[in-house]
Amino acid sequence: MDDLSNIGVVKDILSRHGFTFSKALGQNFLVNPTVCPKIAEMGGAAPGVGVIEIGTGIGVLTNELCKRADKVVAVEIDDRLAPVLEETLAEYDNFKLITADVMKVDLASLIEEEFKDLDVVVCANLPYYITSPVIMLLLESRLRIKSVTVMVQKEAGTRLLAKVGSRDMGAVTVATNYFSKPKLLFNVSRGSFMPSPNVDSCVIRFDIREQTPEGVTDEAFFFKTVRAAFSQRRKTLANSVSSAMGLDKAIVNNAIEESSLPPSCRPESLTMEQLALFTEALKRLTL
Ligand code: SAM
Repeated sequence: MDDLSNIGVVKDILSRHGFTFSKALGQNFLVNPTVCPKIAEMGGAAPGVGVIEIGTGIGVLTNELCKRADKVVAVEIDDRLAPVLEETLAEYDNFKLITADVMKVDLASLIEEEFKDLDVVVCANLPYYITSPVIMLLLESRLRIKSVTVMVQKEAGTRLLAKVGSRDMGAVTVATNYFSKPKLLFNVSRGSFMPSPNVDSCVIRFDIREQTPEGVTDEAFFFKTVRAAFSQRRKTLANSVSSAMGLDKAIVNNAIEESSLPPSCRPESLTMEQLALFTEALKRLTL
């Protein structure tokens, strides 16, 4: 069905199915006709490609993905949308719906079972309440995917797009830059959604790196330390890491010294290389 961004059509479908929006599930559906074709194109939906979509809503983006890609597998948590999608995507035989919480789906197995010989990309207008956990899950699981293209609220976008070593960065920034090259594709105004949220959004593409930065020998320990480092905003690296990891401050200070960092440095001033040096030193000292 092509006119899923027409407000009259959307209202008719929703009322016939007795559907009411769930705020808790972040249900703001896109009703701006220019946005979904752009996400599908720029997100890499094309012949020879399989797409994982997270959160279909009534299928407005799904429709554009199905038109372009060989196959689309969507994970949608709200089972009330299954009969809606049967109607709105009836013309496509390259679509499969999985009714589940994306955080509980084994995505590596899904990719192997559903997309054997296809390149795989992820495209989604993400529910705002799990933006960072979903992106971390997609990146840290080292899935066989080429890119992740997501629409997120502007504020989350600022953190995701921050440069490592800048004021806006957080633990998620380290993960996005470690596993991918993040790029802002375009902005989307709040009026493009039904119901309209209080903030604008943006679309970001993460191109997955074939090789992650050098210097990290234990990724699990690296990210545990990074999360500890950013657990208390604006505190020094020594204070955050020692309190969040329950470590003696003297040991953390030794690791800081061994990695040639200033004694009272803050995590948001460090480069990827410095974070790697520090976590390697900390690991050696805590073994
Ligand atoms: N793609 C549609 C669009 O652009 O109009 C809907 C986007 S809406 C912002 C987010 C969608 O994600 C909703 O349909 C919601 O039910 C679904 N969702 C929320 N939490 C989810 C989860 N944990 N796993 C899978 N889908 C989820």
